[in-house]
Amino acid sequence: MLKVETDPGSGFCGGVIRAISRAEQFLDGGGKLYSLGAIVHNEAELSRLGERGLETVGSVDGVPSGESVLIRAHGEPPATYAAARSRNLEVIDCTCPVVLKLQSRIRDAYARLHTDGLHGTVIIFGRVGHAEVLGLLGQVGGDAVVVEDAAMLTEAIQNGRIDITQPVEIFSQTTKSPLEYEEICEMLRRSGAEVKVNNTICAQVASRHAQLESFASSHDAIVFVAGKASSNGKVLSDLCRRVNPRTYLVGGPSEILPEWFAGLSTVGVCGATSTPKWLLEQVARAIAKL
Ligand code: SF4
Repeated sequence: MLKVETDPGSGFCGGVIRAISRAEQFLDGGGKLYSLGAIVHNEAELSRLGERGLETVGSVDGVPSGESVLIRAHGEPPATYAAARSRNLEVIDCTCPVVLKLQSRIRDAYARLHTDGLHGTVIIFGRVGHAEVLGLLGQVGGDAVVVEDAAMLTEAIQNGRIDITQPVEIFSQTTKSPLEYEEICEMLRRSGAEVKVNNTICAQVASRHAQLESFASSHDAIVFVAGKASSNGKVLSDLCRRVNPRTYLVGGPSEILPEWFAGLSTVGVCGATSTPKWLLEQVARAIAKL
């Protein structure tokens, strides 16, 4: 008999819970709400909210003038707020407080790095084109270098985009791996630059890394539930796979294959900060039924 356990630490993070509950409060009033980008990188939760009247749009130009637009937990650059004002939109700002603080720290760092004749560099360890990263870049008029990995960092130093004769400050996108961030920071220190490292990985994400490692290693197989576009889902499912090679990434119950569990005794079900608890329970029930 296969024993199925759902990870008690998985489910939405505080920032996503806050954004969704504000959207639901608004929709309870009967109005139409436009979300700038997917409110959460999870197709199942998006379709649940879509039925309640939340429509996802790619830019403020997709929102009819005078309507309400929701800014999700990832945050936005200042240009988005200006565009919303010019279209006379009501802004429901659900930027996560952790991201707001990071945006302000990046602005402060940029000012520090450009006083007294300095020409220092702000470096962001994050995914190129990710919404949170675009919001961070917007705080400094795009004048920062985004690196995804060691190769990108080396290239940026070699081609002079990062001038190591000037001071540099590095920040991380909130959902990156603490281990990978430490490796990048160590590389930067070894380059000889005067480096200030800012610890900006979200505490909820960092603690989930340690806890998920032990959860993944204590089961025969892991079913990781996350939307395909979830950056955090990719990072956390890779982490599970490192400690448990029998890790399967699924978007929902329909993607589960019975042969994954042949001859096994235990399976753990867990997910990203964008995976709703109800979906984890659905997947766990579907596996138990096999
Ligand atoms: S992962 Fe952390 S920083 Fe990002 S939205 Fe969730 S609580 Fe906020």
